[in-house]
Formats: sequence, C-alpha cells, structure tokens
Amino acid sequence: MNNDKNVTSTVGHLIDGKIVADTARTQPVFNPATGQSTTNVALASKATVEEAIASAEKAFPAWRNTPPLKRARVMSKLKVLLEENADKIAALITAEHGKVLADAHGELQRGIENVEYASYAPELLKGEHSRNVGPNIDSWSEFQALGVTAGITPFNFPAMVPLWMWPMAVACGNTFVLKPSERDPSSALLIAQLALEAGLPPGVLNVVNGDKEAVDTLLQDPRVKAVSFVGSTPIAEYIYAEGCKNGKRVQALGGAKNHAIVMPDADISNAVTALMGAAYGSCGERCMAVPLVVTIGDDTADKVIEALKVEISKMKVGPGTDNSNDMGPLVTKQHFEKVKAYVDAGVAEGAKLVVDGRGVKVAGHEEGYFLGACLFDDVKPGMKIYQEEIFGPVLGVVRAKNLQEAMKLIDDHEYGNGTCIFTRDGEAARYFTDHIQVGMVGVNVPLPVPVAYHSFGGWKRSLFGDLHAYGPDAVRFYTKRKTITQRWPSAGVREGTMFSFPSSR
Ligand code: NAD
Repeated sequence: MNNDKNVTSTVGHLIDGKIVADTARTQPVFNPATGQSTTNVALASKATVEEAIASAEKAFPAWRNTPPLKRARVMSKLKVLLEENADKIAALITAEHGKVLADAHGELQRGIENVEYASYAPELLKGEHSRNVGPNIDSWSEFQALGVTAGITPFNFPAMVPLWMWPMAVACGNTFVLKPSERDPSSALLIAQLALEAGLPPGVLNVVNGDKEAVDTLLQDPRVKAVSFVGSTPIAEYIYAEGCKNGKRVQALGGAKNHAIVMPDADISNAVTALMGAAYGSCGERCMAVPLVVTIGDDTADKVIEALKVEISKMKVGPGTDNSNDMGPLVTKQHFEKVKAYVDAGVAEGAKLVVDGRGVKVAGHEEGYFLGACLFDDVKPGMKIYQEEIFGPVLGVVRAKNLQEAMKLIDDHEYGNGTCIFTRDGEAARYFTDHIQVGMVGVNVPLPVPVAYHSFGGWKRSLFGDLHAYGPDAVRFYTKRKTITQRWPSAGVREGTMFSFPSSR
C-alpha cells in the first residue's frame, strides 16, 4: 500500500456497471515525466475478479440474444463518445505512460478504428449458407458467441490494445473481463465507462485492475472461455500454456525485435526519416518499433549512420504534454534503469556507441525517466543488445553484405513480429515479402501495422496461438462455428433407411 501523502485518488474496478474500490492492496501509478505519483491503482483480489466474472456470466444470455445490429449501434455510439472525449483520454495516456500527446491521440485513433470495425458486426457474423447440399437438404454455418471472455493488456498502448479486444468480443455477443496494465490503468477504465454511456448493459464489459493474482484467477476460472493477451514473450508463453491447460481458447501476443533492411539502392533520406520515427517514436516502447537496421554494404551503413546522427541531433526530448517534443520519458524508473543497463552492456560487448543519450537532462523535470536517443554501430548477432527486446530509444546498425545474409539474420531471430525493407528494387522487395519468416512486413513502410479490417500478429515467439488480433481473425477467435444440416421430409422425398455414408452423386 502506498501511503504517500501526495496520493489523492485510487483507480478502482468497473464491475456490473459500478466502480468498485477493493483497496486492500494498491500500488502507485507514476507520472514518468515527473517521477511523482498522485494516483494509486487497486490490485484486485481473487474474490473481486470472481465477482467480475460472475457479472459477465449473468449478463451473457441477454447480450447473446441481443440482435447484432443493436450491439453494433452501441459501438457506433461509442465511436462518437471516444472522439468527443479524445483530449481527456489522450491526457490520461500521457500522464501515466509518458508518450507525447500527439502520439497518444494517434494510438486512440487506431483504437477507435477497431470500434468502427466492430460496428460492422451484423455483416461480419452473417455466416455461410448452402442450399440443396442433398435433396431438399440445406446446410449452414453460424458463428456463436463463446460466453465470458477476457483480455490482459500491456502498458505501451493502454487505450489501443484493450480496444483491439473487447469491442469485437462484445460485438460478437460475448461478455468480457479486461485486466489492463497496472502501470497506466486510467484510460482503459474511462473508455469502459464511456461504453456504458453508449448503451452497453452493465456486466457486458467489466474491468479489473491488478497483477498476477487477477490474471491467474482469469486463467483458472472455468467460466472464462477465451483469453486474449498482449505483452512480453515470457508472460505470453505462460498465459498460453496455463490457459490451454485449463481448456480455454488463447491468443497470446508477445515481444519483438524488428529489423529493417536498407538496400544500397534505397532512397536513404526517406529511409532515415522513416527509421527515426520507427526507432525513437514513443521512446521505442512499441512492439512494432524498429530497434535494428540491417544495412547492405558498408557504403550504405556509413550513409545511414551519418544521416541518423544529423536527425538525432535535432530531436527534442521532454514531457509528453508538450507536443513540440519528439520523445517523452520511459514508463517507469525500473524500465529506465533496465534500458540504460542495455546500453552499458552494448558498450561492454564491443558495439560502437555512436550517439549516447544516457546523459540527457530535461530542465524542470530532473526526476523524470528521460533517456536520449542512442545509436550503435557494429551490432553483432551474438550480442545481448541484438538478441533481446530492449523496448527503449536504442537503435543498432548491423552491417550485412547482401540481402540473403540480412534475411537469414531475421529468420534466425527468435521473434517474428514485424520487419521492413527500404529499396527501389521491386524484385528484391517481392522476394523479401514472399520468403521472410515474419508476420507483418513493410516495403518502404517502417511500421507495417495492419489496419483494423486486417488482423495483427507476429510469427515465431511473437505470438502463441493460431489467430491474430482484431480484424477478421477476431470474429473467428471470439466465436464458435456451428454447422447445421437440415431436411424437412415431404411425401415426395421420403427415402428408405440408408446404411452407407451419403455422397453427393
Ligand atoms: P508484461 O508482459 O510485463 O505485462 C503484460 C500484462 O501481463 C500486464 O497486464 C501485466 O499485469 C500482466 N503480467 C505481468 N507479469 C505477469 C505474471 N507474472 N503473471 C501474470 N500476468 C502478468 O508486458 P508490458 O511490459 O506491460 O508490455 C511490454 C511488452 O508487450 C513488450 O514485450 C512488447 O513487445 C509487448 N507488446 C506486444 C505487442 C504485440 O502485439 N505483439 C503489442 C504491444 C506490446
């Protein structure tokens, strides 16, 4: 429990349409730009999570039977409310996560697009129909809701990632229990309250804040039929194994280490501009960030590094509340120390630190978790800074001789979330997109994040499960297929007993 006298509020839970305190266990939520905490978050007990699951179970039968068009109308109304409250939501994101306001608005906009997609539910749930699969026999598949579903989300997109999950889940007729990140919980809670205002009945969406105790309760409770997770790979792997062991459907999206390839024929200035945003935007705390650039040939490497140095020298680091800053602080003090330790490790391992952001100071924000942009040259595959996800403003240049060598590096890496190639060579781009072992691929697009009507997911140890997040895959994830074969016998079609398996002749 945080007894700090500066703490003036506690973020609770939303259960059955009401805010529930449950403050027996709490932890502070920090403003990363100041290093101060004025808010606590309640950490739900097993009993509180069970209360949320019970509320979702109670709400399910009526919500399942609510016509999809009426469910979709709630999503349309929510979209409007999210737009009207965008400034308030973005301010909460910036205060707890640290990212620059414009970036917080960008994340919210991508979240709203998922709400918009969920408002097409009646179209998406139409199913498949075949008439006369046999004489006077019709067959169809429908997609039925699962029941209570749950989502566990990471700190880095506190508004968007929850919106990847629950709008589609509830639009498909399920009820939902969301467990947001305890590091920046407020925006997800506010959005859930707006969903109530939009007409979502109490209990259809519940929010429990908390830690492992809350997550384990969701994983073990037999009333929860499916779990969506987004976070780091060790936890994703745990969620997948535990959830599957307990008979649930699970999709668990994990960490990343995305490589960008710069070919010798690329438009270097365009590539470098794109790489700046991809490497340092949101302080590198994005699962689609580009922390590694593989340059083809030493000449390309030298040009890219020189141009990056110039761009980095122009960057402004400071509080996210000031939109003229390019980069805010890292999310917590622990994460700040961890990222700094990676930079130290890179130096110790022999990579060349071309730009060192460790000394950055922001006047008036001396307690904030600010780290400047760091740039390494000569990063090698065996190094810790090559292998591990740093999740900070640290970009490493890996020098390769040719495209094959670069692609082998990517394919050999444990993660396979995103990647991209900068080139003017259509043949090389086509070969790359066709063969690379990664789930989301860009050509001259540094952050190939699929739009809401496609689906999002990596390969290898960046995703455990079969279906990707949001978009068409979410319709499949949050529904069960049922196939019905129907015949209405009439005098004209009565047949004798059949002992052999019917075939369509
Ligand atoms: P995290 O794994 O620490 O936490 C994610 C969620 O899991 C949180 O809600 C947290 O409370 C819960 N959790 C943490 N430890 C747990 C435990 N031992 N048992 C049960 N639950 C636990 O991740 P994070 O630091 O919040 O987020 C950053 C990570 O998320 C990065 O690795 C990033 O790549 C990844 N990420 C991936 C994607 C993707 O789409 N693949 C998107 C965003 C973030």
